[in-house]
Amino acid sequence: MKISIIGTGYVGSVSAACFAELGHEVICVDIDKSKIDMINAGIPPIYEEGLPELLEKHAGKRLSATSDYELAIMNSDVSFICVGTPSDSEGNIDLGIVRAASASLGDSLRKKKGYHVIVVKSTVVPETTEKIVLPIIEKHSGKHPGEFGIAMNPEFLREGKAVHDFMHPDKIVIGSLDKKSGDIVASLYNGLKCEVTRTNPRTAEMIKYVNNAFLATKISFSNEVGNICKLLGIDTYEVMSAVGKDFRIGPYFLNSGAGFGGSCFPKDVKALIGKAKEIGYEPRLLKSVIAINEGQPARMVLLLKNKLGSLEGKNIAVLGLAFKNDTDDIRESRSIPVIKELLDEGARVSAYDPMANENMKKLFSGIGYYSSAADALSGAEACLIMTEWDEFKSLNKEFDAMENRLVIDGRHILVKPGKDIEYVGLCW
Ligand code: NAD
Repeated sequence: MKISIIGTGYVGSVSAACFAELGHEVICVDIDKSKIDMINAGIPPIYEEGLPELLEKHAGKRLSATSDYELAIMNSDVSFICVGTPSDSEGNIDLGIVRAASASLGDSLRKKKGYHVIVVKSTVVPETTEKIVLPIIEKHSGKHPGEFGIAMNPEFLREGKAVHDFMHPDKIVIGSLDKKSGDIVASLYNGLKCEVTRTNPRTAEMIKYVNNAFLATKISFSNEVGNICKLLGIDTYEVMSAVGKDFRIGPYFLNSGAGFGGSCFPKDVKALIGKAKEIGYEPRLLKSVIAINEGQPARMVLLLKNKLGSLEGKNIAVLGLAFKNDTDDIRESRSIPVIKELLDEGARVSAYDPMANENMKKLFSGIGYYSSAADALSGAEACLIMTEWDEFKSLNKEFDAMENRLVIDGRHILVKPGKDIEYVGLCW
């Protein structure tokens, strides 16, 4: 089938490459010319394992990119909206980009003959597909459902494992207003071994939010337990490893530490809170999930201050800038509030991340960036570990070059910190 992908960020570029791998002809649309040029040259616009190989294989053959909506719509049967859905200043979902993409799609659809399905893949709060996207498309195309199809197909991929997750999903959810458009979207995934859940658009939208909100809740729950354990001198990892053996709980997402970041969990939980409030419900549990998460970075700095006293003029190494390992994405990374607080306290920051130095430079230009953990640690009076990169697990001799060997681990990552290190766990 012929597919157009609107927005070629994390979700769009991975979906495009994977749909091409499944045998479809894919045309990407973005307003960012540099991303279009990269995709057409077979270069991924983001770092994601397995993506370079797929782009190299399909670019210029089954995969192309353009800024021309009309060209893309005329040359495809199905369009996926994969643009960003950030938070506004209040934390509510900002649908401005979805609205703009829907209007552009509608304008192009007006000129198209034949059936075309529009699929919302962006994470949007319940009712958005039916009450916002659909009316905009109707207005701009002059057409009505039946003349075109409309569906909602949330994406569950994890950054860092996105290609793997797309090709080996544990669920595919398709919400459609009518059977025909749902059938078309389902057929695009033929070849993947996965049950397809068919429902209506608002349920599909809700499934995505509940999925993320539940995972975020598990993390904040584990952090609260971890904070209590720390005060009691109990190793929370021992506790949660036993608790996770209960099949009703499971062993995943029970790791306490510096909290969750990334482009999805914080904004999606906040968006669900905003939607609940809009319809007159006060979501107390979800608000606590955010509050606990926002408190964890400050606990790291508090531990540091308890050990070092004033941070004025002190050189603090921050290892890990990406919001998690295997990505260069720093959106909502827990290292951001930590670095900000360190700078507010007058500390000097020596930072290192295997992939995210360049992205963090755009936020904090005045701190030191190093090309290895050893270089960042050299002369530091303390080290904060913020991201669970594999290469940090085996750090040991690198701490020798520190001025003062204090290591505060926000991710329970160090395997053998070394005997002459003062090793402090955030929640253990
Ligand atoms: P992103 O910001 O990385 O990419 C969005 C892309 O859309 C950008 O390349 C941008 O230039 C482009 N764009 C903006 N306006 C446009 C327009 N009018 N027309 C065409 N393109 C336009 O976003 P992302 O991380 O890929 O997320 C996209 C959506 O998917 C969000 O709703 C997000 O919540 C959801 N999601 C993200 C992930 C993830 O891990 N990143 C996982 C699941 C779901």
